[in-house]
Amino acid sequence: VEAREQYAAARPASAAQHAAALAVMPGGNTRSVLFHGPFPFTAEKGEGCLLTDIDGHRVVSMIGEFTAGLFGHSHPAIRAAVLRALDGGVNLTAHNRFEGRFAELVCARFPSVERVRFTNSGTEANLLALATATIATGRKTIMGFDGGYHGGLMTFAGGGNPINVPHKTVVAPYNDVEAALAMARAHAPDLAAIILEPMLGGGGCIPATPAFLKALRDVATETGAVLIFDEVMTSRLAPGGLQEATGVMPDMTTLGKYIGGGMSFGAFGGRESLMAIFDPRRPDAIPHAGTFNNNTLTMSAGIAALSEIYTPDVAVTHNANGDALRDALNALARKHGVPMLVTGRGSMMAFHFGHAVPRSAAEANAMNQPLKELLFLDLLDRGFYIARRGMIALSLAVGAEERQGFLAAMDDLLEIRADLIRAAVG
Ligand code: PLP
Repeated sequence: VEAREQYAAARPASAAQHAAALAVMPGGNTRSVLFHGPFPFTAEKGEGCLLTDIDGHRVVSMIGEFTAGLFGHSHPAIRAAVLRALDGGVNLTAHNRFEGRFAELVCARFPSVERVRFTNSGTEANLLALATATIATGRKTIMGFDGGYHGGLMTFAGGGNPINVPHKTVVAPYNDVEAALAMARAHAPDLAAIILEPMLGGGGCIPATPAFLKALRDVATETGAVLIFDEVMTSRLAPGGLQEATGVMPDMTTLGKYIGGGMSFGAFGGRESLMAIFDPRRPDAIPHAGTFNNNTLTMSAGIAALSEIYTPDVAVTHNANGDALRDALNALARKHGVPMLVTGRGSMMAFHFGHAVPRSAAEANAMNQPLKELLFLDLLDRGFYIARRGMIALSLAVGAEERQGFLAAMDDLLEIRADLIRAAVG
């Protein structure tokens, strides 16, 4: 309560803006994930890894647009690429000189992606991948996993979402080999696709075990279902995404977030034989139009993103920095004797308050939510912006100095809050 009051008292402009927005948007909001009480953090401007809110507070963003902001808020190469595209004129109603080059870079990077098509969001990419699977198999059932998030219209978190697209869905527990195999086999005759994030992102940065991924690969092959990896977030964790890092190859992959250089982006791709249904030269081609699918701003920014900035070497170093930060955070928790665990891989991580490492979103959600809100507000007060749900996604703009500063803030916080956390967790 005290932390909330302190937050509110320091932000009269943000409070006023939220009050005005309530009259025109439900809850004053158009992105559910950004809402938090008493009223949301409202940014005026971003520069590198720094965000300034409309009340004039400057903070280091440790969340980097939930992985899409990999390049920070003002990378010069992204800016130049967008300006290059702008200079050529927008809305060309035509193929352009960017999209083919961008597609080459994406296919070269992710081993399962032989052919790719672009969309404007990860949500759309997943809808199209699922549609591809149902058409290719002539089946209807989609198997997902508890805690999986595949976009605004496709989420299995917290028992499902009433506006999920009208597929017949069945939901298995994450990281439970036996349960997943049983469910896939029970639905085998109608099973079109098995879709999962190879590490739960929004579900708490919980990596899939290698045995789980391998079992899903095998059962997809056995049942004839299309295995789809949603690598919208995880593709940044290794040069070729988690499919390359784990060696488990899906039939299809969906991409999004940072790959479009921070512009609106999504993509779905996979085996040539699956993607061929979209080939407009075919008399039976499935139409996949989309006014902005090849928009020049995204295509140009994406080329710069993959060819000039997030090269394979940079991806390796960046994720090693993330691993080191996560290890240091876990060491701080041990030093203070506080039941806090930081899960994840590479540059993505999430805080959990409890005694055992969660292996599923259900386990993560059972852990202490009010403490995550307190951590969020405490860190904001010390100049660091993480996700309200306790997630971090490091951008390239977060340097060694910011990481050290973050560790110092956490050291201080864990000292001050140790008794409270221990009492709350039990
Ligand atoms: N898939 C995953 C794993 C995501 O994390 C997200 C977004 O957070 C999406 C899909 C949806 O992407 P978008 O928000 O671009 O629609």
